[in-house]
Amino acid sequence: MSHGHESSAAAIEDVIRRALPELDLEDKVQLLTGAAAFSLHGNETIGLRAMIFSDGPTGVRGSEFVGGKKVALFPNATLLAQAWDETAAERVGEMLAGEGHSQQADVVLGPTVNLHRAPLGGRLFEAYAEDPLLSGRLAAAYIRGIQRYGVGACVKHYVANESETQRRTVDVRVSEAALRELYLLPFEVCVADAHPWTIMAAYNNVNGVAATEQDELNNGVLKSEWGWDGLLMSDWGATKTAAPAANGGLDLVMPGPRGPWGAQLVAAVRSGEVAESTIDDHLARLLRLAGRVGALRGIAAERTAELGPLVAPDSTAMRLNLRNLASAGMVLLSGQDVLPIDDSLITDEAPLVLIGRHGLQTALQGGGSAAVRPPHQVSIADGLTEALGENRVQVVDGVAVRINPMAAAPESIIDPQTGRPGMRVTSFDVSGAQQASTSSEVGEFLLGLSDGPHQGASVLELSAELVAPPGSQLLVGVRGVGEWTLSYGEETHAFATGLLPGESDEVGFMVPPSWTHAVEAAPGRILVARLVVSQRIALAGLVVQPVPIPDDQLIMEARRAARDADPAVVVVGLTAEQETEAIDKSTLALPGRQDDLVRAVANTARRTVVVINSATPVLMPWLQEVDAVLCIGLPGQEGGHAVADVLLGKAEPTGRLVTTFPVADGDGPAWTVTPQNGALDYAEGTRVGYRGWYRSDVEPAFWFGAGLGWGAWHYRSAEHVRSDDGEALTVVLANTADRVSREVVQIYWRPDGPAPVRLVGYAIADEVVPAEERTITVACDRRAFRLWDETTSDWTTPSGGTFLVARGLGDIRLEVPRF
Ligand code: BGC
Repeated sequence: MSHGHESSAAAIEDVIRRALPELDLEDKVQLLTGAAAFSLHGNETIGLRAMIFSDGPTGVRGSEFVGGKKVALFPNATLLAQAWDETAAERVGEMLAGEGHSQQADVVLGPTVNLHRAPLGGRLFEAYAEDPLLSGRLAAAYIRGIQRYGVGACVKHYVANESETQRRTVDVRVSEAALRELYLLPFEVCVADAHPWTIMAAYNNVNGVAATEQDELNNGVLKSEWGWDGLLMSDWGATKTAAPAANGGLDLVMPGPRGPWGAQLVAAVRSGEVAESTIDDHLARLLRLAGRVGALRGIAAERTAELGPLVAPDSTAMRLNLRNLASAGMVLLSGQDVLPIDDSLITDEAPLVLIGRHGLQTALQGGGSAAVRPPHQVSIADGLTEALGENRVQVVDGVAVRINPMAAAPESIIDPQTGRPGMRVTSFDVSGAQQASTSSEVGEFLLGLSDGPHQGASVLELSAELVAPPGSQLLVGVRGVGEWTLSYGEETHAFATGLLPGESDEVGFMVPPSWTHAVEAAPGRILVARLVVSQRIALAGLVVQPVPIPDDQLIMEARRAARDADPAVVVVGLTAEQETEAIDKSTLALPGRQDDLVRAVANTARRTVVVINSATPVLMPWLQEVDAVLCIGLPGQEGGHAVADVLLGKAEPTGRLVTTFPVADGDGPAWTVTPQNGALDYAEGTRVGYRGWYRSDVEPAFWFGAGLGWGAWHYRSAEHVRSDDGEALTVVLANTADRVSREVVQIYWRPDGPAPVRLVGYAIADEVVPAEERTITVACDRRAFRLWDETTSDWTTPSGGTFLVARGLGDIRLEVPRF
């Protein structure tokens, strides 16, 4: 810590000491609940400015959940993690700080360090990995990057929030050892290595107690044992009580201004149920955050660096960084002999054949609170077309991939009042009188999360003119839950859309149901949809798209285009219907008839490259029939350029998987994410992910840590060394391929006895030229050697065991005894 830092920390504590006595209990308690969806109260008396939060972690979205400002869309967390590169993670934090500054965000709500416990988890795309050490170290680097510029990070969701089904009520039953060695570890690493200014308490219960009321984990582990002095805020709407939460270590209720604290908490203090010193501690933590971000009068933000051009929003440098970050994390699972494609062989007569809906509508991000509205979106078709020229790429659509259509693209609709792309949103109050009329640049609108002129409306009306050649057939309709009428010209339809049994209200705006109907486009005719508002948070969207072509016909066309292609590139994947918040998956199979599409292409093309556009595992029943598989994650706004760079050899796909890929549904140490009688049992204990697969009779399709890149590696030797800095392995390896490559050297430790194997260190051997021999020292993280003893409730640090130098545990290269 620099001297400036220390003095500002002391100054902050000084302000806090002086501020507390100036406020009465009501004032203090008011500050401990948000003022709105993403902002806090200020207080003039104590010189506190209202702080602003914004969702992350793949971009700084701002306060609007839908249709907000255009902001940079980063590659998703798993794709970033696949680079196993802490320097890159730190750069991501720095870039997010630049975004945060440009939007006056004091805290960006990320990173997410929940683990990939079961592959069905809907929100794993936001979280780094199935391994706690890798997750914690990458997150710590990200936090160092963002906080360096005076923007706070928020590590979430504390703790044991690995799936979404019944997320607001589920009781996660987890052993102490699994909590300590797995789920708490990334938080512990973040606290120790990066000092996050805020942490978010999860929705779920942990062993019978709400995460927002967890005295043992919040006051005990986080604040006392780890000595963390930051602010613990609730996840949005997660706080259920006043006294138990305030006494259980929660500092701030989000969002506001309503919530379970306010008068109830004041009463609890007056009755002696909550000590006033507890309230003072919560407030001190809030003011400490304010001091750090520069929201306290007279105190400069705790910044150790000035923002440079690297982090200027939407700059060329930013775009280039986003592109390179994306390609670096991509994982080549097979087909080193097919990729990269030799671009001199691609001609106007023999263009590169790109097949699949995801080639055209590449999934660049997941859904839910992490979603942002990027300035532009580069699909794979765009990326390849820019790289090769229009005549050298033949783009062929693939089968349908979504159950419900997406909201109308802004280019497909026109606000009848302004004549500009987008739609008109008109609201009516209970009496039927018009309340407000606004223009929306996007095809959907969310009511009830943030304030605005439509707040409290009884009816919402969306209207737009359609951009389509007269006479063309269009599918029009709506997205969102409720009772609707839809009219176009003479036609009017009345209908209702609803959720499936068991789905929570929030599914209604995260993954909304739809209703559609085919019409003939007519110039000047207006599409009008009216929704009777029946939910506190209501989503209303228009659907406008070409009438879909039947899958059989699309498969036939793909087969025809693939004939003689060498190779044909077929892109398949998931969409934000699967990789999203508030809902889990029920299968790892690709949605729709994508498997049939791959098989059809593989049967016809000379060679087939499959590009998988998802953050998390999918099943590959056609694996033996194709020649190469490349996983591209959810690659962010520059995604299509990054994929083109890899396919054409301008960038190496240096990623290694951060999650084990099962062969079939049901395989693996943890599968179901459906609570039984409200409880989800983490019955696999500490055998999560590769730790469980390692001793299992069932083989995965691809191991955590797997990935090829352009190189081929001979591991010559490894030596265990101990020094004052701890343990390390000195590894000598050589690149035996004829291309320059980068290797991620992974060290696992297999303890003697029953405790599971685990990753203890990793390091990058970068730019290793053909035939070069490289010596790499891989430091082992001492925290990964600890085992939790449930009888003494303490750590033990056993000696012995064996080091495995492995390219994922399916490809162990060297074994070294640990002395
Ligand atoms: C999510 C959080 C998010 C918050 C605010 C919640 O539903 O779980 O991750 O930061 O909403 O949007």
